[in-house]
Amino acid sequence: MQFTSVPHPAPTHENVRKAAIADPGFGTVFTDHMVTVDYDEAKGGWHSAQIGPREAIALDPAASVLHYAQEIFEGMKAYQHPDGGLALFRPEENARRFNASARRMAMPEIPEKLFLDAVKLAVETDADWMPPVEGGTLYIRPFMFASEAFLGVRPAKQYKFVVILVSSGNYFKNGVNPVHIWVAQDYVRAAPGGTGAAKTGGNYAASLVPQAEAIAQGCDQVVFLDAIEHKWVEELGGMNLFFVRQDGSVITPPLTGTILPGITRDSLIAMLREEGLEVREEPYSIQQWREEAENGMLLETLACGTAAVVTPVGKVSSPDGSFEIGTGGIGQMAQKMRERLVGIQTGEVADTHGWVVKV
Ligand code: PMP
Repeated sequence: MQFTSVPHPAPTHENVRKAAIADPGFGTVFTDHMVTVDYDEAKGGWHSAQIGPREAIALDPAASVLHYAQEIFEGMKAYQHPDGGLALFRPEENARRFNASARRMAMPEIPEKLFLDAVKLAVETDADWMPPVEGGTLYIRPFMFASEAFLGVRPAKQYKFVVILVSSGNYFKNGVNPVHIWVAQDYVRAAPGGTGAAKTGGNYAASLVPQAEAIAQGCDQVVFLDAIEHKWVEELGGMNLFFVRQDGSVITPPLTGTILPGITRDSLIAMLREEGLEVREEPYSIQQWREEAENGMLLETLACGTAAVVTPVGKVSSPDGSFEIGTGGIGQMAQKMRERLVGIQTGEVADTHGWVVKV
């Protein structure tokens, strides 16, 4: 599909842009353009692909997304490479996961090539929004929502796919800090048969109250347990977990439909295996977590995701008390995996897996 290019009437002045990307933080410095592609069942599917100025989207008050929450999204980054070019990390995995989310939410799939072309076009167009700081990235947010005006509970027949970009500063500006985790008490994130494996807004809405509970308890992040037995460790609000053990094994919760299949998770499984570790996807209980932390069997717990790459979990708290993991600091494996992964993403370490895609 060809993208129509709509000229920007008032692009951000160069001086304003340069000031904004000098220290962008995360989530507020948006770039000038966006890609949109519309879907209409009556028009044969996807049509009207365009790149144009980033602007507000007009929605009918009856648009399905506002009532029944048919909405999905992805989170990925463009990295600056030493040769001056930009690169994506396993973007076809984001395209596949986007379509898996679409299927679960009864939304139309988007051809992988269209998804990837849209992402690349957005990044190429606004490449000058890449922060000129070490560790800076363009965070890419592709999303899709039901735009049809219809008040009835059924899948919509019209959708909009959009790609926007955010200039992002170095996540680790103040160094890598181990996170302190709160174990969600009265809340679950996802139940078997639910939407936990889909990247859909509702999962994140559901996580806000338990996340606030975690902050109120003096923690950084919440960890969710399974909905049935309230015993098995699932994931954080936006990161998957790995338990690195003294016997050379590493356990990560299995993909049984209630956790998001992280692309960092999948990459880490491969990388840890290359380290000679035995990675097992199997259930790990909160009790086991505490016992193994206390008896020394557990060396490290790693949290991983696109945003924070690999971050050590230093401490876990619940009404039953707290326990520290290892020394509570940054473990050897967290450090090694983070450096290697960031190295591959930024073109400093050889990409032996073919994970890096140049824009
Ligand atoms: N779990 C959840 C709930 C998430 O939102 C994310 C971020 N996408 C992850 C895990 C990590 O996924 P990824 O490694 O693909 O960023």
